[in-house]
Amino acid sequence: WALSRIDEVDIQGGWKVGDPVPYAALAKTFSLVEATTKRIEKASYLTTFLLLVIQRSAGGDTKSLLQSVYLCINRLCPDYAGIELGIGESLLVKAIAESTGRSLGVIKADLKKEGDLGLVAKNSKNSQKTLFKPKPLTVPYVFSSLREIAMSTGHSSQAKKVSIITKLLAACQDLEAKYIVRSLEGKLRIGNAERSVLLAVAHAAVLHEKEASGKKWNKEKLAARLEEAANIVKSVYSELPSYDLVIPALLEDGLDGLKDRCKLTPGVPLKPMLAKPTKAIGEVLDRFEGKRFTCEYKYDGERAQVHRLKDGTVGVFSRNSEDMSKKYPDLVEQLPRCIKNGTSSFVLDAEAVAIDTKDGKLMPFQELSRRKRKDVKVEDIQVRVCLFAFDLLYLNGEPLLHKTLLERRELLREHFQAVSGEFDFAKSSDGETTDEIQSFLEESVKDGCEGLMVKMLETDASYYEPSRRSVNWLKLKKDYLAGVGDSLDLVVVGGYYGKGKRTNVYGAFLLACYDADSEEYQTICKIGTGFSEEMLQSHYETLKPLEITKVRGDVKVGGAKPDVWFEPQVVWEVLTADLSLSPIYTAAQGLVEDRGISLRFPRFIRVRDDKSADDATGPEQIAEMYERQSLAQTKGSKKKGGG
Ligand code: ATP
Repeated sequence: WALSRIDEVDIQGGWKVGDPVPYAALAKTFSLVEATTKRIEKASYLTTFLLLVIQRSAGGDTKSLLQSVYLCINRLCPDYAGIELGIGESLLVKAIAESTGRSLGVIKADLKKEGDLGLVAKNSKNSQKTLFKPKPLTVPYVFSSLREIAMSTGHSSQAKKVSIITKLLAACQDLEAKYIVRSLEGKLRIGNAERSVLLAVAHAAVLHEKEASGKKWNKEKLAARLEEAANIVKSVYSELPSYDLVIPALLEDGLDGLKDRCKLTPGVPLKPMLAKPTKAIGEVLDRFEGKRFTCEYKYDGERAQVHRLKDGTVGVFSRNSEDMSKKYPDLVEQLPRCIKNGTSSFVLDAEAVAIDTKDGKLMPFQELSRRKRKDVKVEDIQVRVCLFAFDLLYLNGEPLLHKTLLERRELLREHFQAVSGEFDFAKSSDGETTDEIQSFLEESVKDGCEGLMVKMLETDASYYEPSRRSVNWLKLKKDYLAGVGDSLDLVVVGGYYGKGKRTNVYGAFLLACYDADSEEYQTICKIGTGFSEEMLQSHYETLKPLEITKVRGDVKVGGAKPDVWFEPQVVWEVLTADLSLSPIYTAAQGLVEDRGISLRFPRFIRVRDDKSADDATGPEQIAEMYERQSLAQTKGSKKKGGG
């Protein structure tokens, strides 16, 4: 099916083997993907485009595919390298004005009407009369310009950015300005999740393999190979999430060589394994019935994936794969003391927790969040941190993901040692009865933890599953036992002006969840209680610079009417008394009913600096929570009725 799309995606005559990839072909692909809501069609356009890139790259060229993939997911490098786009509205408005000769006022008025700066840029370009056709844009040129913009910092960086953007826009034709501007904003908004791009890479590789074989493949053979390729690429990327390494390996060693060449490597953080929430000990026992499991303290700190390379270099990475080595120089310094002889390279999965140096007691996350985030000097550190290791993913040259947790835990304890106040193993208990779990849960809370993590210990069900929220890890938090279960991580998309004493700040906020499939934010509730004056002031300071003229096109608003809209960036953790169906909000619309789901009596818990807007809770999780709550209510009323 992908091959039948070639005429639509290709630009006729202007793209020969060995040419740099024309940006026009990518922009065309984006517009085709954007124009359809059908997943299969989206996938086939992307696959076709990537296949063309592979076929028209000259021998040995791996950059064309690499840069094309990066532009499709709107990134410029692996996450941990920290080079990001996300240029503010005012700078873009200025650049559009400069490159098209229109006034700032006219552009702002257009933006108010359209709500999409990409579209405004495209329309501004189209209304401009030009004498000469500019030289066509290429993927390498656009990619290197975007990188240059993202990497320019310091004094004169604003002017430099405007100048590069102006140059880019001046060379745009047809649709190109729309997608260049959206890329610069940080969101393509074509309804194209990263995993679809990964799948398209795998499928394009298969189609190329098929063409290159010169033989006819029957339908069954093709279908089986497509599925196999998707599994290979997904699993390789989850172990080694770096396109810089995976794409060249795919082109050079082919699909079958990929697994041997691309394995978990210290220095490249993997996306951590996550847990499913459970509401009661009974539920844990139901799920793990008859299997060996362990309960560990769920520490209330910040996830830290600690990497040590063979040459002794240490890297500390966040839950989001951000490099935190500059935030935790003390952890880096402490590390050698907890390594036993014979331990060289490794990857630890751990939680960094603030501790009171006087009595060694654990302190809550709020303490930890008082630490500076960048360029911390060890001598200035006030809040001390102890690392609690709960998993070992790599040791002395060997990935351990496919060993059981029991084996990984043994290796962890063999190769590391506790150092008071600096390093310890997550406290665990392998007790299996409700009473044992209950008393361990109480003990964990008494010691300042959030509750327990319950994990499978044996068989392949206990292998480490990168980037998955797995049923083989369950979390049992003290808060759940009373409420609806897990807290939610929601994006602040709008604000309501305060009243009375609160007129200089926002008094309430509109929150949204994030649907990674459709790349859209879905509104879920208004939150306005539980904030101190101080908190409101601090939220105001963070959110004011994110105010935008009109709601962004990727926010599914429903009936909500905040006074101002924000760039969706800030994530808050929120608890709720329960969930209800709502005619106003759009979260999880269509999953349970036509109506959306909203939170009743939402309560602000904390800012989640370690999560980006894309990591916010998704609609499936919300629908699952709603259904679980309904189920519990039915069960409850049956019990009351003597059932
Ligand atoms: P939460 O808001 O509960 O931290 P999350 O989405 O960040 O949720 P979950 O998988 O739901 O992640 O919960 C696991 C988190 O708990 C880990 O990311 C880690 O930071 C923390 N944690 C603390 N102790 C442990 C432990 N013993 N094992 C695994 N994770 C732990």
